[in-house]
Amino acid sequence: NYGPGGYHVTHIGDSLKGGQYTIIRKLGWGQFSTVWLAKDNKHNHYRVVKICRSSRAHRENAIDEIRILRKVNSKRNTHPGRRHIVELLDYFEVQGPNGVHVCLVFETLGQNLLSVMRSFRSYNIPMCLVRRFTKQLLLGLDFLHRECGIIHTDLKPENVLIRINDDDLVDCLSDIYEAEEDTVGDITRSRPLCSAALERYASQYIKVGKYYQLKRAIKATSSHETQHLYKEQLRQLEKQLPPNYQVLGKHAILVSVVIADLGNSCLTDFHFTDEIQTRQYRAPEIILHHPWGASTDCWSLACMVFELLTSEYLFNPKNDSEVSRDEMHLLLFESVLGDLPEFMLRKLKRKGTYLYKTNGKRRNVKHRMSIESMLVKRHNFEPTHARMIESFLKPLLVYEPQKRADTRSMLSHAWFTGNIHSESVHYSFDKIEGWGSLASRNKLPISS
Ligand code: ADP
Ligand code: MG
Repeated sequence: NYGPGGYHVTHIGDSLKGGQYTIIRKLGWGQFSTVWLAKDNKHNHYRVVKICRSSRAHRENAIDEIRILRKVNSKRNTHPGRRHIVELLDYFEVQGPNGVHVCLVFETLGQNLLSVMRSFRSYNIPMCLVRRFTKQLLLGLDFLHRECGIIHTDLKPENVLIRINDDDLVDCLSDIYEAEEDTVGDITRSRPLCSAALERYASQYIKVGKYYQLKRAIKATSSHETQHLYKEQLRQLEKQLPPNYQVLGKHAILVSVVIADLGNSCLTDFHFTDEIQTRQYRAPEIILHHPWGASTDCWSLACMVFELLTSEYLFNPKNDSEVSRDEMHLLLFESVLGDLPEFMLRKLKRKGTYLYKTNGKRRNVKHRMSIESMLVKRHNFEPTHARMIESFLKPLLVYEPQKRADTRSMLSHAWFTGNIHSESVHYSFDKIEGWGSLASRNKLPISS
């Protein structure tokens, strides 16, 4: 992959775009690119540089990604979903031994949701966090679909990144305060954490909340006496907080998500290809070669939300020597969602396949299990929660793309009514591995 046409050979300390960017360290990579933390020496900021592969196809792909992202940037900022789509800040080309590589520059974001899922290990991401993410993802998609006329086509946990955002913090602080007593109660009633970790978490959660409220109060007051008082309280509080509270605290209290990687995106009225979506998030109309549109993202969203809640794929068709992976996938759909409409199957070979017997009759799916019972039986969800989640996911998992719920209608779903911020966030500090790297990234001295 580091040969001609492949990735750009990049080293720490490399300088790009005539010295404007200095490479600091590698953050990630994907099929199309390597992704680096860099310092923007011109603006004295940390940025993320995505260096794309240099083959002609990859360069063209990168140029399409720039076009799409510029379209996003050109839209008005008033839509609340705008801030949940990654923003392109700069782009340029770099010449290396493997050819010419297109580079895209973005704001520095945190982990992707796959690694967030992994940091929770045996626990799942708390439902209230997933619910908040889901709402933000719906807003982001709504902006992409309706304002920009863009379909993402590759929505999955790896392509959603977390952001720490001070505005969010200010918004939800008051809620946290009101819910303080409740929070501790809710945590105790929720998942089986060991009680010591639980207690520590609860008290830190509240302290971090207080810390940020004090900081805000200091900013807001003009009285010297009050400021002095608050600053003293702040100092006392700081002594009691864990060393990584800045990152952890903010994450624990409010994490917002950003949809990234528009490298496979297309326009609602111009599709680059019909081969879209990563397998597990692929909609039936794609598998069955039917017309598709923005609602194909909605299908992926539902698959992803289920996965965030349970850490398991909703549909994960395996390779099987006898059955094609596509047919296996369709069977999995049917076992959860009921029979596919006949007209959608018309392009499928109809005899002697896994779905059709040699006489052309449909085979019956043997094991059926609803989303609700999967959540309750396999993942220990409370029945009321499971019912609510199923009622949210089902409209997004309607087979016929035209009848599938759109982002706007889903935004008013009952799952989102009630106070999103004040619900318990019940995970323990011990469980959050891997935030460390993020902490060190955000603490890098800007002038070094
Ligand atoms: P590809 O098109 O090659 O899949 P992505 O845009 O998905 O590239 O980036 C690959 C990985 O790099 C992501 O999964 C993520 O972990 C990391 N990454 C991408 N953009 C950022 C960013 N702005 N901030 C932090 N990490 C990022
Ligand atoms: Mg990617």
